[in-house]
Amino acid sequence: MRFVVTAGPTREAIDPVRFISNRSSGKMGYAIAAAALARKHQVTLISGPAAIAAPKGAKLVSITTSDELYAAVRRALRDCDVFVMCAAVSDYKPAQVSALKMKKRRGAFALKLVPTRDILASLPKRRRYLVAGFAAETHDLARNAQKKLRAKNCDAIVANDVSGSEIGMESDENEVTIFFRDGEKQKISRAPKKIIARELVKIFAKIFEKGLTKKSW
Ligand code: C5P
Repeated sequence: MRFVVTAGPTREAIDPVRFISNRSSGKMGYAIAAAALARKHQVTLISGPAAIAAPKGAKLVSITTSDELYAAVRRALRDCDVFVMCAAVSDYKPAQVSALKMKKRRGAFALKLVPTRDILASLPKRRRYLVAGFAAETHDLARNAQKKLRAKNCDAIVANDVSGSEIGMESDENEVTIFFRDGEKQKISRAPKKIIARELVKIFAKIFEKGLTKKSW
């Protein structure tokens, strides 16, 4: 099977030396890419700036901004069976990027931000590949994840609680619940991200195969 996995943060430039980003380490996405390779799947890993090495055997596409990620995703999806959107895309970017380094000013100043393009929500409704999104939530996990599943037209959403510091972002461990389009859900209890990734790859591959016979997406 052909997996396309996005991972890590995006960076949205403010000026030549400053940007807006987030705490995503890329660990979860890289672990999913490694787990898919271990099961002999073909993997394209589209990654924002991350401090970890890409798993051997993956085709690595490096991106920086959400616009670059969008373009790389659209290209990679021409050749894809399972798409895992694990990247922590910045929700906003500066309305304008200053060509010169901005000078310090006295007192407060406001930076105008505009929303970035929602990559998942922009995908075609009719498609031949499975789409799995991620949702990092600090509260109302199930409700917010199910809302995202519908709003972003995903086949599955992997939700994790990032309210504590022990699991989730930057951590080596995670605990997730996967919500499916048919209303089903499946919990994977707290475990190293590598173990969670192995389970996720198995689950995604299984639903892709089921869809091939049922043509459910
Ligand atoms: O809305 P939120 O950012 O919480 O949704 C998370 C999911 O949506 C993740 O799978 C993320 O990769 C994806 N996303 C996206 N485009 C954006 C923002 C998030 O595809 N601009």
